[in-house]
Amino acid sequence: MSSSVNIQQVAVIGAGTMGMGIAQVAAQAGHGVRLYDTNPAQTARALDDFASRLASRVARGKLSEQDATALRARISPAESLSELAGSDLVIEAIIERLDIKQQLFAELEGICGEQCILTSNTSSISITAIGAGLARPERLAGLHFFNPAPVMKLVEVISGLATTAEVRDTLLTLARDWGKVAVHASSTPGFIVNRIARPYYGETLRALQEGVATPEVLDTLMRSCGFPMGACELTDLIGQDVNFAVSSSVYRAFHDEPRYRPSLVQQALVDAGRFGRKSGQGFYTYEAGKAVLTTLPTPVGQAPSQVVVFGDWSGLEGADALLGRYQGEAERRDGSPALLIDGVWVELTDGRSCALRRPGQAAMALDWADDYESVSHIALGVSASCTEQQVAAVVGFFQSLDKQVILLSDHPGMLVLRTIAMLVNEAAEACLHQVASPEDIDLAMRFGVNYPKGPVAWGADIGYQRLLTLLDHLQAVYGEEKYRPSLQLRHWASMETSHD
Ligand code: NAD
Repeated sequence: MSSSVNIQQVAVIGAGTMGMGIAQVAAQAGHGVRLYDTNPAQTARALDDFASRLASRVARGKLSEQDATALRARISPAESLSELAGSDLVIEAIIERLDIKQQLFAELEGICGEQCILTSNTSSISITAIGAGLARPERLAGLHFFNPAPVMKLVEVISGLATTAEVRDTLLTLARDWGKVAVHASSTPGFIVNRIARPYYGETLRALQEGVATPEVLDTLMRSCGFPMGACELTDLIGQDVNFAVSSSVYRAFHDEPRYRPSLVQQALVDAGRFGRKSGQGFYTYEAGKAVLTTLPTPVGQAPSQVVVFGDWSGLEGADALLGRYQGEAERRDGSPALLIDGVWVELTDGRSCALRRPGQAAMALDWADDYESVSHIALGVSASCTEQQVAAVVGFFQSLDKQVILLSDHPGMLVLRTIAMLVNEAAEACLHQVASPEDIDLAMRFGVNYPKGPVAWGADIGYQRLLTLLDHLQAVYGEEKYRPSLQLRHWASMETSHD
């Protein structure tokens, strides 16, 4: 047993997807594990599947026969709860129902010793509520693994109102000993990851609702800026029904907070039974388990006749290098960073639509890239005042710099910057409300959902003031509370000396 805390015997309750994965993690760390499920056939099936997976790893030379045998021997089925009496730690991964979890933990308190730590792998139920009926709620915490538990690095340790600091620290140390990235959160709806990720889905769904582009275009754009999957393909994978249920539960748990309001676009998919990959259709259609993809349209470009580069672009990573590669003539002028290409103003979005920012003028908004020189796609929002020829000239300008161009409608804040701004805002609000530390929030989003950067650090790189301005504009142009900036974001912005 390799843990530096005093935990040896582990019990896992629920032998489903998560329970079996968690049992494997504990066994791999050297613990003896008892696995209990009200359905003994499920326990047997889970252990058989585990044995087959180990056998296949042995056959592929990835694991020795000896290690496989030892690992298998460390997990044994329990036929009743009373067999879990000698456990130092219990991890519950049963059905997601408060009443059933409460009943289970009440029974466990009568079976396990007073020093035993009781934990729940719940994704959405309050740890404080689970602990409410217990004699020793201070020994209960959340231990939230991500699916698949043996692969995903993150574990959220959740404290309810009564959870002691000692229990919290023991679990954090234990999870780290198990090779996980462990973060701490207070028991608030969605904890860290399932709360802060909401705008990732919400902003793409909103763009679809406003007809900004197709799911495939929006997914391509989000992938090009470093996210592993776009929100449409990701929700198809998760299941539209499952993702919609999480959004609805977080929305209700925050007493109808507008930031989390579920999307009617997603509800329509759920109503139609288009659950995604598992039902063969969601945003995409699936054939033999693969999404049927179309070739994205390449907008027609032509060489511009006149290019003027205004201002200093050094505040945008890679922009100077990119503009420096333009082979045609480009006049330089003072002013705020902007391009004027055949009469079209091209500027980084500030959260207003082009139509509102430059009324009556031909204008396009540039979306965010962490590095304009290396990014594969340049996304532009096109105002209604641009002629076809003007659009072709701007497209031709970026194509001559080897960029693939994505044209969106005149969407305030564009897709990438608006999504990041909302993620950063959500992270700021979670910090303000003492849910978790900025460091833990960044770790959670990097290791729980594989974001390329943690939102707090990403916000600092982009500039909190820039994001604050964007959100102030979004709130003004939509008149929606959903986009109100967090007080914490205002504080972070006020501490910046310079953002350009
Ligand atoms: P699952 O349906 O695959 O497995 C649940 C198992 O619990 C079933 O085998 C069932 O027979 C058993 N069970 C039900 N009631 C029981 C009881 N009273 N006592 C003992 N066993 C009981 O579910 P899952 O996906 O593994 O989820 C389990 C828990 O983990 C839930 O709380 C869920 O919210 C949480 N979770 C799930 C995921 C995920 O991606 N699936 C991720 C993180 C957390």
